[in-house]
Amino acid sequence: MTGIRFFNTLTRNKEDFVPQSPGRVGMYTCGPTVYEYASIGNMRAYVFADILRRTLEYNGLEVNMVMNITDVGHLVSDADEGEDKMMISARRERKTPWEIARHYTEVFLDDTKRLNIRPVTVLCYATQHIPEMIAMVQELADRGYAYETSDGVYFDISKFPEYGCLSRINLSEQKAGARVEVNPEKRNPADFALWKKAPAEHIMQWESPWGMGYPGWHIECSAMGRQYLGDQFDIHTGGIDHIPVHHENEIAQTAACTGQPAARFWMHVEFLLVDGGKMSKSLGNVYTVSDLEARGIEPLAFRYLCLGAHYRAKLNFTWEAVAGAQKGLFALRRAVQKDSKEDRLRDVQGRALSHNALRFREDFLQAVNDDLNTPQALAVLWEATRSGLGSELLELARDCDRVLALDLAKGRLGPDVDIAAGDLPDYVRALLEERHQARLARNWKRADAIRDELAGLGYGVKDTPGGYQVTRIVTPDSH
Ligand code: AMP
Ligand code: ZN
Repeated sequence: MTGIRFFNTLTRNKEDFVPQSPGRVGMYTCGPTVYEYASIGNMRAYVFADILRRTLEYNGLEVNMVMNITDVGHLVSDADEGEDKMMISARRERKTPWEIARHYTEVFLDDTKRLNIRPVTVLCYATQHIPEMIAMVQELADRGYAYETSDGVYFDISKFPEYGCLSRINLSEQKAGARVEVNPEKRNPADFALWKKAPAEHIMQWESPWGMGYPGWHIECSAMGRQYLGDQFDIHTGGIDHIPVHHENEIAQTAACTGQPAARFWMHVEFLLVDGGKMSKSLGNVYTVSDLEARGIEPLAFRYLCLGAHYRAKLNFTWEAVAGAQKGLFALRRAVQKDSKEDRLRDVQGRALSHNALRFREDFLQAVNDDLNTPQALAVLWEATRSGLGSELLELARDCDRVLALDLAKGRLGPDVDIAAGDLPDYVRALLEERHQARLARNWKRADAIRDELAGLGYGVKDTPGGYQVTRIVTPDSH
């Protein structure tokens, strides 16, 4: 069997991955802060975590995947200053933070579904785990790692000499270069809040040994990770922005209680850029999955775009790039589905794959097991489409799709028109799609009825080996 190797941020090395309990993997993924719509940048992080989980499962491992929803405690600044992001959105939208959390969580989960990101094993909400967080802060205080100030309880990083091990920050340099300290009660500039005392107007607050307040963002993940996965688990994931503060702090908190840095493997996904730069509200380029769909891009085309880059490389999003990814995805599906006629399928089912097909499967496995090399994995599948596998190609693609999740065997093939150019009315697209689905289901009667309906609307549709072509029927009265 091909061994699995992952790049571990903790050691800066690609290492052999072997789960600590044979056959079973415990994995924690930092979930979204639900105060606004998740951007496609955020979604890149969850596509990555999903590919990781699917790859482990493809290797026959059972994965216990835990993800949190941050619905309290994530402040505007990572230096524990400013307001809770939930409160700002609540004020802006004249809703309670609870309503804000519910709405944005629902939309987030819906977006993940459209990207074929499988539901995690345990989805845990920060607001439902306050007692566990308080207990962990208390444990840190009892062990001498925490101190109380007028506005909260802080972790004293000078008590934890390994602080900085993940990002390899040199704290003495940081101290010397530190700008004016915002909170004079902190003992060290990098000390961080475990618990914040709440001002009266703060709606989300709970009783604690330090008065009414709410948890710090970092303790949330430490407490929930520990509760569901134990003191030491296999993998922890997040975006690269989590390395210097959030994950450094998580490691300090957990290790101070347990002696272990929570996870053995820390894996981080690089950023998605838009037009070569950072996404930002002021530039108006913070796109969501719904924005993609509004422009005729199916969510899985974005997934395909993500898989075309290695997760540790920056990925630049442009509308041209995602339209190109969609074309590529449709072409791959066409190649895979062209031999999907049932009679041919019957040939293959129940028969072992030929040596040729197995070789592609092995190459695919090797690619994903090599630190999730999805660009290489896609290249293997493309090569397979050109190698005369016949109806076995569909079987192979179905198998690879357990990891890729691009609906290769059943997804839309797309019309042979430039749909990104938006030159078809929505109702025509809907009919074309319905006809395509009817044909896939071999419902010829329905497919023909739709073709007649389209003709009545002035659109001709011609089936081709790779999909279909749409033409505008020009009649004397259409001028
Ligand atoms: P947040 O909701 O801000 O906590 O972020 C959710 C996840 O998205 C985290 O894992 C971040 O690291 C990740 N993330 C945020 N922006 C981007 C981006 N532009 N590209 C990739 N991942 C991102
Ligand atoms: Zn986290």
